[in-house]
Amino acid sequence: MERTFAMIKPDGVRRGLTPEILARIQKKGYRVVGLKQMVISRQTAESHYGEHRERPFFGELVEFITGGPVVAIALEGEQVISGWRAMMGATNPANAAPGTIRADFATTTGENVTHGSDSPESAERELGLFFGNDELL
Ligand code: ATP
Ligand code: MG
Repeated sequence: MERTFAMIKPDGVRRGLTPEILARIQKKGYRVVGLKQMVISRQTAESHYGEHRERPFFGELVEFITGGPVVAIALEGEQVISGWRAMMGATNPANAAPGTIRADFATTTGENVTHGSDSPESAERELGLFFGNDELL
């Protein structure tokens, strides 16, 4: 059984979307094995998004993701890494398929409501960054 790291970003939390997003996860059948609302430190944000360090939007991205509480979620399920990314939709909400979280709730690439690990390696790294083993079911 696969695990992934999901996050409701500050825009989603601020807009009260947490219950709706958790309901979609539950309906889909994924198991929530870890969950916490927290403010991300600059250090954690820079590590989490380290692959984007050289990109022009990196500063803005770190400001945004540390700018308010997020909800960090550990999910378990069959092919949950790709499945959760499919539920989120494309990075740019304008390209996101109808019915996806980003299509339904986001309008900009910068503030696109949710995050999902993009590979087994990212999932392991990101889960370790946000959760201790004793915090997960
Ligand atoms: P995430 O990693 O947050 O799940 P993603 O994997 O769909 O999103 P990435 O390419 O990893 O997309 O980009 C990480 C995040 O950086 C995006 O979700 C978005 O918030 C921000 N981002 C990406 N590209 C841009 C851009 N061109 N302008 C502004 N922000 C961007
Ligand atoms: Mg990504």
